[in-house]
Amino acid sequence: MIRTIIKYPNSVLRKKCEEIKEVTPEIKELILNMVETAEKNQGIGLAASQVGELKRIIAVQTEQGKVVFINPKILRKTRETEIMEEGCLSFPGLFLKIKRAKGVEIEAVDLEGKKIQIKATGLTARVFQHEIDHLDGILFIDHVRILQRIKMLKYFIWH
Ligand code: ZN
Repeated sequence: MIRTIIKYPNSVLRKKCEEIKEVTPEIKELILNMVETAEKNQGIGLAASQVGELKRIIAVQTEQGKVVFINPKILRKTRETEIMEEGCLSFPGLFLKIKRAKGVEIEAVDLEGKKIQIKATGLTARVFQHEIDHLDGILFIDHVRILQRIKMLKYFIWH
């Protein structure tokens, strides 16, 4: 089922998501919905809070295909950063240059309930950081640098 994407400034986007204790059929259903919803909206990443579920789940399109992570955590970040333009399905039409770590190491639980660890760099690392932020109610506009604020304010005036 394709779900409606919650748009800013809906307060749900600012809430902290809860850890998943068990991968129940309901959780699997939610994951399926998230994958369908991300696909339909051509998103490369989606957090459960963006479909109104305060659960620690993210769906990310990587170079190796789609992955769904439960309770994802960033274990390590590279000190090296890079600035790239970023968007978010909860802010249609807004693209901002955001500085993030170039690489991350992530720990999460997969669909079978197994603990996994992966390393990512470049765009995939960026998407992971963006989506994991969502689980703590942190949005990409929170990372915006001073010169991009004008662009952001213009967006808020017209939307
Ligand atoms: Zn987002």
